[in-house]
This record gives sequence, structure tokens and C-alpha cells, in this order.
Amino acid sequence: MRFLTLALALLTLHACAAPADRAAPTIAVESRAPVTILISLDGFRADYLDRGITPHLSQLATEGVRAAMRPSFPSKTFPNHWTLVTGLRPDRHGIVANRIEVEGRTDVFTMASDDPWWWNGAVPIWVDAEKAGVRTATMFWPGSIVAIGGTKAADWPYKIAGGTRPQDFLQYYEEIGTTQRVATLIDWLRRPPATRPRLLTTYFEAVDTVGHERGTDHRETDKAIAEVDAAIGALVAGLAELRQPANLVIVADHGMAAVSRDRAVALDTLLTAGDYRAIETGPYAGIVATPGREAAVEAALLKPHPHMECWRKAEIPARLHYGRHPRVPPYLCLAEVGWQVVDKSGTAFDGGAHGYDGAVPEMAALFVAHGPAFVSGRTLPTFDNPDVHALLRRLTGLPPATGTDGSDAVFATVLR
Ligand code: AMP
Ligand code: ZN
Ligand code: ZN
Repeated sequence: MRFLTLALALLTLHACAAPADRAAPTIAVESRAPVTILISLDGFRADYLDRGITPHLSQLATEGVRAAMRPSFPSKTFPNHWTLVTGLRPDRHGIVANRIEVEGRTDVFTMASDDPWWWNGAVPIWVDAEKAGVRTATMFWPGSIVAIGGTKAADWPYKIAGGTRPQDFLQYYEEIGTTQRVATLIDWLRRPPATRPRLLTTYFEAVDTVGHERGTDHRETDKAIAEVDAAIGALVAGLAELRQPANLVIVADHGMAAVSRDRAVALDTLLTAGDYRAIETGPYAGIVATPGREAAVEAALLKPHPHMECWRKAEIPARLHYGRHPRVPPYLCLAEVGWQVVDKSGTAFDGGAHGYDGAVPEMAALFVAHGPAFVSGRTLPTFDNPDVHALLRRLTGLPPATGTDGSDAVFATVLR
């Protein structure tokens, strides 16, 4: 920047000294092609945008496109981040939960799992982009450190062989603050064209973290909303300073619902200890019956319950698009929004939760898109989040994907 200022100053001096009949000097400022930046604000419920505390996001929405987006089931972080970048629903891409157990495997899938085996069921957009010669860089995103298509050795030092990653990626670490995340994106874009990424991602967890702890309507939650809004403002300012046009696609993975300790269904009051194991609990529970105890578990779960409904995995309602993947546990119990399914009585908490049916309004996720590719001032009807992948492919210049669960049709009226 300082060099540019100096060059401009010299050119201005030269122009002043030149005779009036000489042509004005032309300044060679690089004209940059637009880049695509995908930004996730974890747990940013769609209606948080109407609280009057997000000047930067609200301006982008006013000048661009906004919508309340429907997350896929389960409305959890890892399943939905993988859907947004692959266009497949969790039941097809295989990241069916934040925590997954598979019979016969010694490891359990958690948010720290980087073994490609768990992730190889789908190809994220950055892999297709890299293969098409579009350079990518991820300043955090679930799955973005995984070598897609690779294999992890079963023995120490557990080397990962093969596979494709973004050319620049960073291991998730919460202590890397919002300022540093934004600065990293801007620094990547400062590079010369040959090594500059054209598709970038970043991620901010603060709204989700505080939403869980304090619920949806607390001043600390509003503070976190304002904090991530400020990060967006800093990014927009950094791009303007660089004169870097960008198509920003700002999304949330899911919304948030207020929960309380007195709205809970306890599995230990319905089932006999030793008959079952809950792999996950919360807005929904994934349950496995002890071999030989299936009949007892089914008799207890598959009848009507207040505030909760349970199914065999093959009988989960079609609207949830869930239950075909081998990684989905045999039984699913889904709570009414605002309620929790807990393993043991007395373990429910006060605060916020997500994981419910994506169609409930509390789970609606933020969607804001802004940049040269988008028209101004439009609100789209609610759409399903696999569509974001199709939009990203279009913005990145990749051909439409076939066989995914999404389409870019919903964006037809808002793309220039
Ligand atoms: P959830 O339990 O569904 O609300 O998940 C949200 C949490 O996911 C956040 O608090 C983050 O700390 C965590 N998280 C997000 N991205 C990553 C990542 N790439 N690796 C590990 N954890 C992550
Ligand atoms: Zn989340
Ligand atoms: Zn969360």
C-alpha cells in the first residue's frame, strides 16, 4: 500500500511538471478478478439479522441478497458444514452427526477426526476447484484439513497418504481470534495473482458458543452477534483497501432454540439400564439396543411420548432425509423444539440447543450473499442448504454438479 501511495505521489508530481499538451499518465493499478469467500457464522439464527445490532451484515443484506435457510437434519455443526460444501445431505455424505460410532471400528468420529475414511463419502467444492485449477484457501471449515480421497495408516505415526486438500489450510484452533482470521484472508489475497486463492472460507463460532451457554435472548448472545458482525465489517474494509472485488456468501449451519432443564425427556425413565446405549443426546438421541434387547427397547420407544417421537431408522419420516446411511444408529428419538432428550434424569441444561427438525423456525439459518455476481436488495424464499454448494460452483466457475441434493435454481433471479 505504501509503495502504491509513493508511486501515485511520483506520478502526480510528474503530471504537474509536464507540459499541458502531453497526455496524462496512466496508472497501472491491477484490476482484480472477483474471488469467492464462503463465511460461516456458527449458530447465527436467521432472525438475529433483524435485531438492529449488525450494521455490517445488514448493509450487505440490503445491498445484496438474504434468506432464511433450512438446515439439513440433524441441524448440527459438522453434518451441515459438510452439506454446504458438498451439496449432499448428511444421510448421503456420511457425516451423519457430530459424534458417530461404527461397529467394528476402534475409533469414534468426533469433531477432531481427520481420518479421510470418515469424510470420503463426498467431495467438497475446494477439491473440485483445486482439480480444475482454481486455487483454494480455508481459514477454518469443518473437514477442510482432511485429505479427501486419502487413507490414514492404522499404526503410528498414522501417516495420511494421498488425497487432496486446499492449497492453504489451517488446523482449527479457537484461540486464533477473529482479527487474525480476517487478517489471514486479506494476507492471502495480497499475494501475486499466480499464488492468490480464488475460493476462500472462514468460520466464526462465537454466536453458537454463547447461544448454548446463555440462550437466544441474552445480552451476551447479542454481544457475540455484534462481535462477528464487526469481523465481517473488518473483512469488507480489508477487501476495499485491497480493491479486491469479492462475492461473499455468508451462512450459518443452523439456528438455535431456547431450552431449559425442566423441559426434558429422560431415557432412563423409559428404558432399562443395560438394554440400550445413547450415542448422542440433546434435541435428538441416536440409540443402539443391546443385542437381544431390541424388542424391549422398541416396546418402550416406539409408542407415543409427550414432546418426543422415536422411530426405527428405516421409518424416519421422509422430510428428514435421514436413516439410510449405515452410520445412522438403529433408533432415532427427536424432541419437540425447546425440549431435550437426555440419558439420565436431571442432566438437562438451561440455555440454547440445535439439532431439531430443520423445518422448525428456530433452526432457520442465516444466508446473506453480496458482491458483483448478485443483484441488490432481494429476499429469497426459504431454501434448503444443499443449494449453497450449487451456488458456490457457479460463482467459482465450476460446471454444475450432477447427482447432488441441491440446485442453483433458487438463485436464478438474484444472479447478475
Ligand atoms: P455444535 O456442538 O454442533 O454446536 O458444534 C460447534 C462447535 O464446533 C464449536 O464450538 C467449535 O468449537 C467446533 N468446531 C467448529 N469447527 C471445528 C473444526 N474444524 N474442528 C473442530 N471443532 C470445530
Ligand atoms: Zn453449529
Ligand atoms: Zn452449537
